[in-house]
Amino acid sequence: MIRILFKLKESALIPLLLLIITIPIAHFGYQALSPTVRDLFSLAPYIVFTAAITLSLIYGRLRILMTLLILATAYWSYTTLLSSVGQSWSKFTIEMVFNAVTILGPLNIVLFAFWQEKGSLVTDLPTKLMTLGAQIFAIWLICEYQHQPTLYFLTQMVWPALHPDWVNMSPIGFYSFFFSMLAMLGLLFWQPSTINVTLFSALIILFIVSQQILIPGYLSVFMFLAGALLVGAIVHETFNMAFKDDLTGLPGRRALNEQLAKLGRNYTIAMMDVDHFKKFNDTYGHDIGDQVLKMVAAKIRRVTGGGKAYRYGGEEFTVLFSNRDVQYTLPHLEIVREEIANYAMKIRDDNRPEDDKSGKGRRGTKKTDPSTVSVTISIGVAQKEGANKTPEQVVKAADDALYRAKHGGRNKVST
Ligand code: GH3
Ligand code: MG
Ligand code: MG
Repeated sequence: MIRILFKLKESALIPLLLLIITIPIAHFGYQALSPTVRDLFSLAPYIVFTAAITLSLIYGRLRILMTLLILATAYWSYTTLLSSVGQSWSKFTIEMVFNAVTILGPLNIVLFAFWQEKGSLVTDLPTKLMTLGAQIFAIWLICEYQHQPTLYFLTQMVWPALHPDWVNMSPIGFYSFFFSMLAMLGLLFWQPSTINVTLFSALIILFIVSQQILIPGYLSVFMFLAGALLVGAIVHETFNMAFKDDLTGLPGRRALNEQLAKLGRNYTIAMMDVDHFKKFNDTYGHDIGDQVLKMVAAKIRRVTGGGKAYRYGGEEFTVLFSNRDVQYTLPHLEIVREEIANYAMKIRDDNRPEDDKSGKGRRGTKKTDPSTVSVTISIGVAQKEGANKTPEQVVKAADDALYRAKHGGRNKVST
């Protein structure tokens, strides 16, 4: 629970700050612009949407792509209906389109947020596009035939007690936003990822612009923000994929190599390896092995003394200490070793949802419940000195020390 809140705090902070900063910009900044600049700025959301759509296609981010298409449709609908009051669109069409966006917009954001990406772009995209396209076609038909009963149905007053006065949309639209937000909150607690936080922000932004549609500026400024947040989420996730290890959340080998190249004059490197982990996997199954690796990684991450932890690969980890010698790091490494050795991990059956790929072995390990498991790690440490001049040589020296720790009986720190 605390971990989820921490993760949410980490990824929700920037979108939240930007949302707050954007309110005065939309409110006052926009007013200060000349009409020509305002006209130009109304194109800004389309530019950022196009960039974001291109990125999401390149990186196969279909959930983001669909949200972008929903926002672009909503933006086009709102700008057209605002500019066509008394002109190209009839009163019926204006009302119908506004209600369609406020009712279907949030529901679709939720639908595509929950609709997991699977298979390839080619198999996945057409179904999703048709789902959205069918709705747009239906609304076009209703507008074309000016089908009064539908509009009457959508704008009727249901549960008036739950419809606050300050809301500028129909009750059904308001409930649609309300329940969509609840569902998205659920998704956030289930999978607290940057992308999910951003999809939730998109929903909030659609609510803000629908609610404040008559205040000039809100529409283009907030839609621009939504597009920019979605671009940011794609870039952030792609960056993370390259640098962060998926299972443990620690930076991976690529990040380590980059850091090794930047090390200064003095540093110490610790190589860590879980003891008899192959046997552990054979006994308890790969799934519980993964859980234990997560636990081990979490303990190593919290190493004191200024060490920075990486997953070297498999059940091996590396900790870098800049500007520190071996003697300084030893007590800090001892603490990590001891903490892991003393930790009795309860075997849980309710695996984290992001582990769904490894769900197969779960049944086979159930019989060991309820019990605890524990592992130990061996650590080898070396610093830059003498013949160990390059980071690679220091890593090799730490590896040799690790070998000595293993042969000295494991659950040890060796130099
Ligand atoms: P030693 O004490 O000498 O290190 O013995 P060991 O069995 O730990 O050494 P070895 O390197 O032979 O085995 C490493 C094992 O770690 C092999 C593999 O089953 C397991 N392993 C590596 N990566 C993962 C992972 O991501 N998840 C799980 N569950 N197991 C992993
Ligand atoms: Mg190993
Ligand atoms: Mg090992």
